[in-house]
Amino acid sequence: MKPILYLVIPCYNEEKVLVKTKDIFLNKINELITADKIHKNSRILFVNDGSRDDTWKIISDLSNENEHFVGVSLSRNRGHQNALLAGLEEAKNYADIIISIDCDGQDDINAVNEMVEAFFDGADIVYGVRSNRKSDTLFKRATAQGFYKILNLMGGEIVYNHADYRLMSKRAVEELLKFQEVNVFLRGMIPLVGFKSTCVYYERGGRIAGETHYPLKKMLTLAFDGITSFSIKPIRIISAFGFLVSIIGFLLILWSIICRLTGNSVSGWASTLSVISFFGGIQLLSIGVIGEYIGKIYMEVKKRPRYIIEDRTYKEK
Ligand code: UDP
Ligand code: MG
Repeated sequence: MKPILYLVIPCYNEEKVLVKTKDIFLNKINELITADKIHKNSRILFVNDGSRDDTWKIISDLSNENEHFVGVSLSRNRGHQNALLAGLEEAKNYADIIISIDCDGQDDINAVNEMVEAFFDGADIVYGVRSNRKSDTLFKRATAQGFYKILNLMGGEIVYNHADYRLMSKRAVEELLKFQEVNVFLRGMIPLVGFKSTCVYYERGGRIAGETHYPLKKMLTLAFDGITSFSIKPIRIISAFGFLVSIIGFLLILWSIICRLTGNSVSGWASTLSVISFFGGIQLLSIGVIGEYIGKIYMEVKKRPRYIIEDRTYKEK
């Protein structure tokens, strides 16, 4: 039996671009069905993320025109990551393989062939990785690369130059959905799912029409979310810094006492300096310790699964 493939495509105010890109998706699905790679029940699932333009109307019309087009509409705009998650959750009820892709035609659709092949070779997750950033402005390139570097330094494990173009098997999506956090940053969460994963390289072009929904402000929010959702390293840095300041404070106290004893100081200086150094160090250290506990609470409230079983020697009940 051929696997059923679902393309999950989040759309937010995309009336301009959807009419142009819909055929790209449909042609690819038809091609794969004709090549006998996937089941004829494969679908293109659009997720309307509370668009304010005619996006939902276009999606509804498409679903009447061709059975391969289907859509769900969110009650309001919830952002790219949540829209994607909604699409994955919906698709896993029908599909064996799910590929998420943007609707603006930037991601090269032909990478789907390689992704599907990788799935047949046993991969549960296939990351679409940009082979270069030629189509980006210098600014976007610099900020994006800085982001990946900082996130990795901070202990987040993400695939370099991979955005949200990826294939996931049904079971990988089911495991991902056990992650119950509200701050969704899929790029950070999916590597935590594990299973056999691989990368497929593709060239990312410019938008076919319409405008980006990721201006600098949203990019910064996503980056900040990415870091704070995956790492408590910033808290660790405060702790370490507090420790360092405490040591410096202690040395300053010693120094001021020596100055006092050798008579090299005005009266009152040594005691004032000692008090300031002492409290400075203690305060920062204490904030760090409190931070450690907050960090633990933070990790606890996420209620992430502690492990995922990949295989059994027996059939699960
Ligand atoms: N998107 C969404 N909800 C939002 C913002 C964006 O579903 O609130 C979708 C959008 O329609 C597109 C994808 O997310 O399919 C990526 O957005 P965009 O192309 O604007 O980002 P960029 O490629 O410029 O980073
Ligand atoms: Mg785009």
